[in-house]
Order: sequence, then structure tokens, then C-alpha cells
Amino acid sequence: MTHVIASTCTREGDCVEVCPVDCIIPGPKDNTEWNAIFYIDPETCIDCGACVPVCPPEAIFPEEDLPEENEADVALNASFFTEGPGYWDYDLDEQRGAA
Ligand code: SF4
Ligand code: SF4
Repeated sequence: MTHVIASTCTREGDCVEVCPVDCIIPGPKDNTEWNAIFYIDPETCIDCGACVPVCPPEAIFPEEDLPEENEADVALNASFFTEGPGYWDYDLDEQRGAA
């Protein structure tokens, strides 16, 4: 199980600051395929739930509680780490906010 960021993420970045295992990564603003949201690595997330209450638009869910209309976001979060940029060297303040 993992937590998942839904496509309603507005790139506030607050979740990154509280994740104890650093598994939340922003889609690079200059990458048009991935720059809409931030992503959680399902292989590393320990399901602690710390990121959920700090998210202003309430865009983070335990996988089992994800709204039906956001089900595709499970695969989207995972694919960022397997097919997309994955872990990259970013500046959080530069990456906050809409791309
Ligand atoms: S706190 Fe919420 S809106 Fe902000 S980056 Fe994280 S998931 Fe996206
Ligand atoms: S549930 Fe915990 S480990 Fe998983 S992304 Fe959120 S803060 Fe990180």
C-alpha cells in the first residue's frame, strides 16, 4: 500500500517538507509531460500519513481511499519513478506553484 497524490495537486510543496523518507518529488516545471503535480514513490512510502493533513487542496490519499475519478493517479505516481524523471536534484522553492 502507498499514499497517492491526485491530479488535484496544486504544487504547494508542503508535503515534501514533512515526509520522513523523502519519497515525494515534484514533476520538473520545465518538463511538460510531468509538470502538473508532485508524485509519491510507492516503493518507498511507509504510509505514515504525515503528508495528508498538510496538503492545502487535500490532494493526498491512502491508495484505498482514493476517489474513483482519481484511480488513474495510482499508476501515474508510480510511473513517474519507473518511466519519468524519478528522483532528481531539485530546489523545492523553485518548484512550488503552478508550472
Ligand atoms: S502539499 Fe498537496 S498540493 Fe502541495 S505538492 Fe503536496 S500534494 Fe501537491
Ligand atoms: S504517507 Fe508518509 S511516507 Fe508516504 S508520502 Fe506521505 S509522508 Fe511520505
